[in-house]
Amino acid sequence: MQRTLALQTLEKIGQEVTLQGWVDTIRDHGKLVFIELRDRSGKVQIVGDKKLGKLSSEDVIEVIGKVSQRPEQMINPDMPTGTIEVQASNSSLLNECKELPFPINTDGSQLDEELKLKYRYLDLRRERLQKTIRLRSKLIEEFRKTLFSEDFVEIETPMLTKSTKEGARDFVVPSRFNPGKFYALPQSPQQYKQLLMTAGFERYFQIARCIRDEDLRADRGFEFTQLDLEMSFTKREDVMEMVEKATKTAVLAVGGKLKDQQFPVFTYQQAMDKFGADKFDLRTEEEKSSGVLAFAWVIDFPFFKKVNREDVAEVRDGKSGWTFTHNPFSIPKDEFVQDHLDGKNVENILTTQYDLVCNGYEAGGGSIRAHDPKILAKTFEIMGYSEYEIEKSVGHMLEAFKLGTPPHGGIALGLDRLVMLLAKQTSIKEGIAFPMTSTGRTAVMDAPSPITEEQMKELGIQIRSMKQTTAKSVFEQICSYLDSEKVEYKKFEHKPVFTSEEAATIRGTSLESGAKALVCLADRKPVMIVISAANKLDIKAFKQIYGFKDVAMADIDTLFKVTGLQPGAVPPFGSLFEIPTYMDEGLSRLETINFNAGSNTQSIQIKSKDYIEVEKPDVSNFVK
Ligand code: ASP
Repeated sequence: MQRTLALQTLEKIGQEVTLQGWVDTIRDHGKLVFIELRDRSGKVQIVGDKKLGKLSSEDVIEVIGKVSQRPEQMINPDMPTGTIEVQASNSSLLNECKELPFPINTDGSQLDEELKLKYRYLDLRRERLQKTIRLRSKLIEEFRKTLFSEDFVEIETPMLTKSTKEGARDFVVPSRFNPGKFYALPQSPQQYKQLLMTAGFERYFQIARCIRDEDLRADRGFEFTQLDLEMSFTKREDVMEMVEKATKTAVLAVGGKLKDQQFPVFTYQQAMDKFGADKFDLRTEEEKSSGVLAFAWVIDFPFFKKVNREDVAEVRDGKSGWTFTHNPFSIPKDEFVQDHLDGKNVENILTTQYDLVCNGYEAGGGSIRAHDPKILAKTFEIMGYSEYEIEKSVGHMLEAFKLGTPPHGGIALGLDRLVMLLAKQTSIKEGIAFPMTSTGRTAVMDAPSPITEEQMKELGIQIRSMKQTTAKSVFEQICSYLDSEKVEYKKFEHKPVFTSEEAATIRGTSLESGAKALVCLADRKPVMIVISAANKLDIKAFKQIYGFKDVAMADIDTLFKVTGLQPGAVPPFGSLFEIPTYMDEGLSRLETINFNAGSNTQSIQIKSKDYIEVEKPDVSNFVK
């Protein structure tokens, strides 16, 4: 059997063909039945007798028949094969389609997301999605073509690896061979691609999957794809030029329209002055409606910024209060290298980072790298890493930089959003074959899902408490607990606060009534000690009362491990984290207490007696 595609029937008038595909539509006129058969090339009309009438929409069929011209009045000018039809002489059902969970001959954008993604393979049959996913493939093909012609080598890098700093949390994978040890999934191939420069490849690229455990927003999943590249013996302008060329070629090849033939360049300062942001939209209203892509470069970014205390990954990286703005592996601009090495004027150091923006989005970013180990080590020192911590996290890079690493730089372009813009879609998910739901569940397959006891045992893993693994926020957990105990309480939503004083002021409550929840290690075990914000913990007294040998405040990492929270957000409910709670008597005698409940922006007020009743802390005197 030689299969003919729907579109190829045009060249086979008068011949017998075998077609295979889906029943797109079916019109049953009794004696005569019309089917539009759909395959990867398009659609063609089949005419047959009532035997065809038994078929239904989306059945997979094979039809044998003769291609003939349609009678004049039956020609459909809207269809590429509208001048012909196939007179079916034989047909067979290859796979029957039961009733569809939703129609797929519509645009589909109104449908419930969870349902659509559960049946993503049906959703993908829509014309709009077929076009978008095929456009994506073509776009990638075009990028590859340019890069191969420029001597780039396509190289894969590991998925099971060690943390790469891209400013997000890592996804970790437990190791069966090393129980208690974990791999991290790559947030980007950053370090490996740099090591490929040490290895002498000089020009590398990869269509790379990156995995970052970031807070979900409607339009963001945990995985994304980027065109990742790196070049040796290169300057900032060389990388920008190469990327601009590859981008323009690929965009034009898939039918995209460019606003500027040469991408304009703004410094970070100019962008902030002009647009108030480092991502901006250069299109006029008219250009917006005609689907034009307006690219621009932004350069001269500050290297460092103050840590945002709300951002866990930043807090972890910026132990000194400073963290990197874009990429810790970058080199500062020449004129700032000395300040960088001296750790001086940190706030003024500019980096070689270049970002590509498009229609108000960040389309990509990269930099020239620090290939001098002193400069890279200094970056981490500025962020507050000790010598030991530097060695542990980037020691392997520092070593490679002492073994003949050429100067190099690169970039990564996000492909998902570019596809969205080129396909004139409004959601990034439209250009991804199997995107996640907004709540982080996978399409079609039900993940994340529990693993078996046996698997856990093999991996040396134990689930500590279901309470902490529920999707509910700590605030919601407390509220629903108090509700279920029928306790009255008051909620506050306020600007983020980081100290007890700020909290008291913003809530309009006394400092004394602020319940400060301190997580301490008592003989190495975490405990929660609750005292008035106006008092200080008397560690000696506490040790004496409870007979502990050693009591110390937990550091930020331990606090996070125990509670999943940042300082200032911890509520006085040790029970929530399965640790014992101790309460100072002075606080217990107040009428009401106030506390931050799981975030820096949410507080709760409750009567002390109710708190004691629900939490049952051990009450004694241990403040100064
Ligand atoms: N690794 C960076 C990122 O993924 C890009 C780069 O600097 O090459 O955003």
